[in-house]
Amino acid sequence: MMARFGAREIGLGIARDPRLDAPRTVPADDDPGPFFLFFGAQPGLWIGELWPRGRAWRNGLSEAGYDTNFCARWSGGKNFLEIGRQGSEVAIEPDGSVYPCCLKTRAPLGNLTEERLEDILASLRGHPAFEAINAGDPEAMGLHVGWSREDYRSASHVTDPSGRPFANPCIGCDAFFDRHLGQELRRLRAVRLAARGVTVEAGDRQHAIR
Ligand code: SF4
Repeated sequence: MMARFGAREIGLGIARDPRLDAPRTVPADDDPGPFFLFFGAQPGLWIGELWPRGRAWRNGLSEAGYDTNFCARWSGGKNFLEIGRQGSEVAIEPDGSVYPCCLKTRAPLGNLTEERLEDILASLRGHPAFEAINAGDPEAMGLHVGWSREDYRSASHVTDPSGRPFANPCIGCDAFFDRHLGQELRRLRAVRLAARGVTVEAGDRQHAIR
C-alpha cells in the first residue's frame, strides 16, 4: 500500500505473529527511508483478539477468552510499577488521569494535574492488588480480601452487549475495581494529599468509577 510512495515497512519486533519473528528488514544506518510501521489490533499481534473495551466491546467483536491475559502482554498492567526500568509503562489521559494499562482500569490511579507520577506509583507499591497487576496476574488481585481465584474467574464471565457469553480477566478486574479498588484508590489519594497538607474536599469527584 505504501510502496507507491516509496516507503518500506520495517518490523516491530514484539509480537506473537510468527511473521514478525522472521528475519527482519533492518535499514542500513545510512538508508534515508522513508519507512513505515503499522501496529495495533491486526490478527496475530498482541492485541489481535481485540480488547473488551470501546466499540469492540459494544459490538461483540472481541475474540478474547479467559486465557487471553492482556494484562501480561505489552500495553497491559504488567510491570507498571517498575518505574525507570524497561517494560514499565502507564497510560495517561489528556486530563492527567493515570492508568496501569492501555485498556484502562475502571478508575484512574491518580491524576498528574495534582500529583507526581512517582508519588502515585510509590503509594501503590506493596499493595496486594496493584502488585498482582504489576505481576501480570490480575486473578490474584483480590486474594487479600478473600476474593479467591475462583471468585475472580466467576466475576470475569459475563454476557457481552451483543448477547454472547464472554470471559476475560479484564472483566474480573473491572468488577474488582467496582467493588473494592475505587474506594481504596480514593483512600490512598487522600493519604498522599494529606502528607502534603492538602485536604480532600467533600464532593471531590477525582477517582470516580467510570
Ligand atoms: S486486568 Fe486490569 S490492569 Fe490488567 S490489563 Fe486488564 S484492565 Fe488493565
